[in-house]
Amino acid sequence: MLRRVRVFSHPNSLLVGHVRNLLEGAGIPCDLRNWILAGGMGDLAPIDCEPELWVMPEDEARARVVIDQWRQGAEAVVSPGARLLRGWRCQHCGEWHDDHFDTCWQCGLERPDP
Ligand SMILES: [Zn+2]
Repeated sequence: MLRRVRVFSHPNSLLVGHVRNLLEGAGIPCDLRNWILAGGMGDLAPIDCEPELWVMPEDEARARVVIDQWRQGAEAVVSPGARLLRGWRCQHCGEWHDDHFDTCWQCGLERPDP
């Protein structure tokens, strides 16, 4: 069994799925763990089983670059059809949220006005 490294996790499984697409689009194979789609779009998984992305150790550095770039400028690297990233970013902790969240899931800060 090869060792893997966790590079991303988020309670929004759609977001995790999107990051997986980014990684695989960059040629980085990744494993999805704790993947639960409990109902409709954007449902949150229970906090103790957040969907996670794991990659091979040799791909970790590259994966983190891809994820960092996405976090810093999601609009710029968004692929066609990834409408999820019309979301917003918490000004306090930097987490991304889907449009229908009004407060940050991580720190509770309210969504800033556009
Ligand atoms: Zn926050």
